[in-house]
Parts: sequence; C-alpha cells; structure tokens
Amino acid sequence: MDYLADLPDRPPLVPDCDGELRQRMGGALPASPAAPRDVLELLLEGADLGICPSGSGRYFGYVAGGILPAALAADWLTSVWDQACSVYELSPLTSVLEDVCRGWLVDLFGLPPDTSVSFTPACTYASLLGLAAARHKVLAGRGWDVATQGMTGAPPVTVLVNETIHASVLRSLHILGLGGGIRELATGGRGRITPQALAAGLEQAAGTPVIVCGHVGEVNTGAVDDLHLLAGSVHQAGGWLHLDAAFGMWAAATSRRHTLLHGLDLADSWATDAHKWLNVPYDCGIALIADPGAHRAALATAPDYLNLSDTQHRHPMQWELGFARRSRVIPVWAALRQLGKDGVAQLVDRHCALAGRLATHLAAEPGVHIAGEVVLNQVPVWFEHPSLDSEAHTRQVAEAFQHQGVAWASTSRWNGRPVLRLSIINWATTEQDIDQTARSLIACHRTLVQRSA
Ligand SMILES: *Cc1c(COP(=O)(O)O)cnc(C)c1O
Repeated sequence: MDYLADLPDRPPLVPDCDGELRQRMGGALPASPAAPRDVLELLLEGADLGICPSGSGRYFGYVAGGILPAALAADWLTSVWDQACSVYELSPLTSVLEDVCRGWLVDLFGLPPDTSVSFTPACTYASLLGLAAARHKVLAGRGWDVATQGMTGAPPVTVLVNETIHASVLRSLHILGLGGGIRELATGGRGRITPQALAAGLEQAAGTPVIVCGHVGEVNTGAVDDLHLLAGSVHQAGGWLHLDAAFGMWAAATSRRHTLLHGLDLADSWATDAHKWLNVPYDCGIALIADPGAHRAALATAPDYLNLSDTQHRHPMQWELGFARRSRVIPVWAALRQLGKDGVAQLVDRHCALAGRLATHLAAEPGVHIAGEVVLNQVPVWFEHPSLDSEAHTRQVAEAFQHQGVAWASTSRWNGRPVLRLSIINWATTEQDIDQTARSLIACHRTLVQRSA
C-alpha cells in the first residue's frame, strides 16, 4: 500500500542497480532457514533499489498497462486461494469464471457466439495456440492429422504475414515448424498489408494450405490491417486468418468496431492481452478461436490420471497449453465487472484522446515529428536537428528524456529510423501527466539543439 501511495510522486526512472542488488540479494544459498519476516524485509529493501515503477501514470515504456484496484486485490486473492485449475474439480470457481468471461469477452469484442477462449500467460502464448489451431485445421483440410503424423512429410503450409508483424507471431510460427513457409506482405510504410501484396501473396500460395497473419495495433504506430479485406480474401482462398491484437483488440469495445476494426469478427483466431489495456496485473494473455473444434484438436493430448470424463463442466486444461496453472481469470473477471462494457470503452477512448493530445502538443514544436499518424494509443516520435544528423539527435533526446525523471518511454525503430515511442495505456494517466511529459520532451529537444548551435 505504501508503494502504491508513493507511485504518483515517484520519478519513473529505471534504476541502475545490478551490482548492488546482486550483492544484497545473492551470494550462496544459505544453509539454514530464515524467519519469513526477515526474508520479506530483505525483499522490500531489494525492491526499493531495483523496482521499475512501470505502474506510474507517467511511465509510457513498451506497452505496459496499469492495474485497476479491483484487479489487484483479486490477484492477491488468487494467490491466497492457490487454485491449480486443470480440471473442474480442482477449481469450480475457475471453470465457471472462465465460462462467464468467455461470454463477456465475446460480447465485448463482437465475435461469433461460439468463439472459444483460453487464458494464457501472455499474448505470445495466445498466438501460439491460435496458430496451432490454424495448423491443425489447414492440414486436416488436406487429410493430414498433424497431432499423429507430425510435420515431416506434411503438405507445405504457406504463411503470409504482415511485414511489420510482432516478433511473437514469428516466434510462434517457428516453434510450430511453420518457419519455412513464411512470406512477408508489403505494407507501403504504413503498417497495413496493401491490397496488391495480399492478392499477389495469395496467388503465389494457390494450391497450398494457407495461414495469414495480420494485426490490430502494430506495436509502434497502432496501425490496424484492413480486416474486412483480409478476411474476405483469405477465406476465398480457403485459408485461416490469425490476428495479433495484443492491445488493439480492446478498441472493439468502442465505436471503432464499426470503422477502424470493421471485419474483426470475420477472423479465425485472435491473440490479445488482459495485462495491457484491460489493466490487470501480469500475467494474462487471451486466445480466442472461432472454431472450438480446432481449438480442442490442437490440444488433443489428454492424460488419464485426470478426470476428464465429466463433460458437464469446463476443464480449463482442455483449452490451454498448461495443465496445472494459476487461475488467471480471477483478476480478469474483477476488471471486467468493475468497468462494465461502458467502462472498457471509456478507458480506451480516453487513452486514444490522450495520445492525440500528446501528439498535438509535440507536433506544434519545430523539429518534433510524429512518425506516421496516431491511430490508437501509441505515439512514435522523432526529432529533427537543424544542422546535425536527426537519427543521432533522436537517440540523444530519448536518452536525456529517460534520465530527466519526469516520464519514461522506450525507443524503437519505425520505417528504418529510430523513434521514441510513448504508449498511453494506464488508467492512472491524467491530462496533467500528458502535458508535463510533452513539456519535458520539448525541453530535452530544445536544450540539445541550443547546446550544439
Ligand atoms: C506486447 C505485444 C505482443 C506480445 O505480448 P506478450 O503479452 O508480451 O507476449 C505481441 N504483439 C503486440 C502488438 C504487442 O504489443
């Protein structure tokens, strides 16, 4: 509670403490036991040195997300209750809440009513699961059962991916033995697969089983693929459409469902995170699969020591890679119950408006540029120097900003150039936080320009 109370005033700096922390926390494993209280004291001292205050309303690094109070308390209770939730009888609470939240999420996102859901450790695992279902389905269509026949000698699968797709999708494809079939589709520098690249890719793939991977929210810019076009073309070719929607999925709770995200409901699988825009604590990803049969088939292996003969109830392990695991759905239920449909929409709308406010402030300053357009909540910025190299200047501004202690954001690359990227995704972020951040960034830029003038 002390930590949370201090968080709004704490400078969101990343501590440089590796050596000291190792010394305090490490050494050889003690031979004898310690009192639990002493252990916690030691942990708190270490945390004081080494915690990255990513829950601050002025922390805009990566795509971190904050924590809603109800979700945090629910997460503490999850540990207290310590449910290993592989089968119904191990945690009826988990089974029921997973079913309830399945219905809520399908409604919130506007997906087909039978869409199945899995609560995974992260979005990466959700993509792995969605793509495992895709692999099963497209190969079964060629009379090949990947579970029993494996990948050796299987019909070669073509996987068409947005050239700016997140590396977690590629990692999942590599693990699934689909790496050899990956072909990148051009996006014309805007993060959206072009109609020409899509048509050409599908034409080249003709005759092979095909999986297409697009995204709802490119990690730098928030760019969203033309989902309606993608789904129509992919299904005409008999393929499976998988969407990486790690944070962008939640925009489906707003009126963007009918505009920017039009066609979202036509995909075959979606991977998203609750630990980003829903603001539940780490870790929780969510896999959604339109064909529950393909979902189950991708996880067909079942142990006979677990009682799965009861078909009345949901057994979480029939929908997730892990057997025993944490009951991740409990904080998700709490967050959804706290916010309701309108609350999720307001959260997303507010963050998008704050991103727009930040971009407007920044773009009004000479030499400060937004890379592309602000689509959702991500603001990628680069800085132009009147006489020196802009790439080096951008890196220097980013470093000065990261050490100023007002706010924090991470660096990335977009269209071949370095950018500082601010992700507005914490419920605690206010307009004042945004304005303070803009002033800090502009001050860093001006100081560096003046210094070298
Ligand atoms: C964060 C992110 C991922 C990976 O999510 P994890 O939960 O870290 O596995 C994938 N895609 C996008 C667009 C992301 O922002």
